[in-house]
Amino acid sequence: MATTNRFLEWLSKRRNLVVAEGYLFEFERRGYLKAGAFVPEVVLEHPDLVKALHEEFVHAGSDVVLAFTYYAHREKLCVIGKEDVLETLNKKALAIAKEVAIATGTLFAGNICNTTVYVRDDEKAKEKAKFMLKEQVEWAVEAGVDFIVAETFDEYGEASLALEVIKTYGKGTPAVVTLSSGARDITFDGYSYAEACRKLEEAGAAVVGLNCGRGPETILPLMKEIRKACKGPVACLPVLYRTSEQYKTMQSLVDPKTGQKSFPVDLPAHFVSRTDVLKFSQECKDLGVEYIGLCCGNSSHYMRIMAEIYGRHPPACRFSPDMSQHYMCGDKTRFKNYHTEGLMAHKN
Ligand SMILES: [Zn+2]
Repeated sequence: MATTNRFLEWLSKRRNLVVAEGYLFEFERRGYLKAGAFVPEVVLEHPDLVKALHEEFVHAGSDVVLAFTYYAHREKLCVIGKEDVLETLNKKALAIAKEVAIATGTLFAGNICNTTVYVRDDEKAKEKAKFMLKEQVEWAVEAGVDFIVAETFDEYGEASLALEVIKTYGKGTPAVVTLSSGARDITFDGYSYAEACRKLEEAGAAVVGLNCGRGPETILPLMKEIRKACKGPVACLPVLYRTSEQYKTMQSLVDPKTGQKSFPVDLPAHFVSRTDVLKFSQECKDLGVEYIGLCCGNSSHYMRIMAEIYGRHPPACRFSPDMSQHYMCGDKTRFKNYHTEGLMAHKN
């Protein structure tokens, strides 16, 4: 009897998937992990908060609960001198995500990412990267994930290595593999993003595409090329900052007020608007992006808009804006006194 995978079943039935990411930046902003090393220590120190953010993102429309194991790999834990909690942290993050996914009827995903030790043409470095990816993949499979997200790779080579690890040790678990797009329109190892994605698709990734790095405006042109090059589902998860032709990535953004690089602490000076997210989501839907989501800078008010455009009606939609109920901007007959007394004139 053929076994069915919930993730593949979901994609084939509903045709698309809305995915909330951005946990790392959000917990840094709230004061529960450090910018720099960016290790998700909050998983062990405040598991209740991680659970609550998973629930909030589902409330806002995410179809997926992604275990918060981004940068919870051996190298990053070494940086902060906490290699000893590597396994505990990974297992805890997976358990929290699983609990929320079961309770909310959403999909449960594992998460691996750029190792920061991978060096092309260096077999020893590649072996180290492979080992690090393997241990996280095995923990995710053991926890019973529906699929594994392998993301934020600057190079096709490392993305391909991650996919190989999932294929070898994932016991058939489907892989979503996404590259992080830099300022140039090619990967660090010289492939066009469309070519890299096509190759990953051919090598067996269930979904391929881009996450992180670029904001909505600058990620879209690359997605158009990827859509043309790939046959299967494609993924797009931009950051929530206004990148432009001049500054294509969040890492290159410059605060116009200070002239200084904004990454990472001054990125709030560049947040996209909700209307930006609305337009972007519609464009992705029209383009045929099946796996849509948001990365660094994400918050539930952005997620809800994206989910609505993709046809979801999550609980948070009950509170979607309705300015007709506003005393100043709403129905003039209902809020008659305010308007007839001329008070409105003072505000404009
Ligand atoms: Zn990101």
